[in-house]
Amino acid sequence: MWLAPAAQVENKVIAFRLLPTFYKGSSLTSVVVSCIFGWTGIDRAALGVLGAGQRLSRDLAYKHVGLIVGPASDALIAEATKFSDSIAVADHPLLDSYHSETTLTALTEVCKQLNPKAVLLGNDTYCQELVPRLAHRLGGSAAGDALKLSGRNETVLVTRSVYGGKAQATIKLSRAPAILWVRARAQEPAQQQALTTDLTRLTLTLEPNTKIKLVDRQTEMQGTARLEDARVIVSGGRGLGGSEPFTQLRALAEIMGGQMAASRAACDAGWVPAEWQVGQTGKKVSPQLYLAIAISGASQHIMGIADAKTIAAINLDPDAPIFQHCQFGLVEDYRQVVGPLREKLIELLA
Ligand SMILES: Cc1cc2nc3c(=O)[nH]c(=O)nc-3n(C[C@H](O)[C@H](O)[C@H](O)COP(=O)(O)OP(=O)(O)OC[C@H]3O[C@@H](n4cnc5c(N)ncnc54)[C@H](O)[C@@H]3O)c2cc1C
Repeated sequence: MWLAPAAQVENKVIAFRLLPTFYKGSSLTSVVVSCIFGWTGIDRAALGVLGAGQRLSRDLAYKHVGLIVGPASDALIAEATKFSDSIAVADHPLLDSYHSETTLTALTEVCKQLNPKAVLLGNDTYCQELVPRLAHRLGGSAAGDALKLSGRNETVLVTRSVYGGKAQATIKLSRAPAILWVRARAQEPAQQQALTTDLTRLTLTLEPNTKIKLVDRQTEMQGTARLEDARVIVSGGRGLGGSEPFTQLRALAEIMGGQMAASRAACDAGWVPAEWQVGQTGKKVSPQLYLAIAISGASQHIMGIADAKTIAAINLDPDAPIFQHCQFGLVEDYRQVVGPLREKLIELLA
């Protein structure tokens, strides 16, 4: 039963050792900084951060600085000049890839010089670990999981969901700088603006960190795209009863050109990798279609899919909470649906 639809930049190279005169000549003294990491470049998440930075700086009438941390190729710099009033580049051999302490030290030094009112980062795990520590080092305030940022009377306001996604709260951050991580992909992406030629290269003096040594780096095996970037997600829950049914779900996901995900219950049971977890303590996704199979729809799970364009669910229980959140719902045993749905799709796509 289907339920009713519930350029090339003029390179002004300034090499200096973080002198406190930075931006002294600017007509706009206060700045909002949006961080772009050289190792990820300007992907959809970075565009979301830059978009939030554009709007916040406009609200506050501050200058918007795109800060590139890490490897900054000419192509990356040229791309970045489209989205902010000025560009600052903090490149250094020790910033060729992410290292928590080195990146934190670099950001701290740069922020002390830029003296920003707000610093915006995305919602990946790197950013989430950097934000509170950076705020502490700068004597500012920190907030995470921002759905929306706004500014009033020189104060940053952060809207975020609370009570497992049942309500939204707006928090006023009185102490500057406000260090924030935003739900990057849920933000309206940055609009292109007049190319800026205001580019400053910072010369950082960083020491190798001896306290924390990176011994290994493993890349997540998740198909072709990151879960956070997936347009279609097929997700399974505890109702599947084990790891084997996930093979069927994967076959369906492949036909749909989608990625696999799961509820925490399925991940905790060890049926699928922990990286698949979506929700409050998992990944926040924003696909065009999220197909939840045998997932009850607990509020903590819904928090991770609140930005999905369309949610469809298959569940045996007509009273499952997921049906209150989906646009399309099927009350049925998933075993009666997954195989036939895949066959129908193969037929339609042939
Ligand atoms: C602090 C905290 C953080 C949390 N963070 C997360 C998080 O990030 N992500 C997350 O997912 N959870 C999270 N949880 C756990 C969350 O509360 C739920 O326990 C979890 O989401 C339940 O997973 P589930 O829907 O797969 O399992 P269940 O709630 O057990 O639901 C299984 C569903 O499958 C259905 N079903 C059973 N058999 C079939 C069948 N044959 N065909 C179709 N349907 C069937 C059932 O009707 C049921 O609705 C968190 C909890 C806490 C306290």
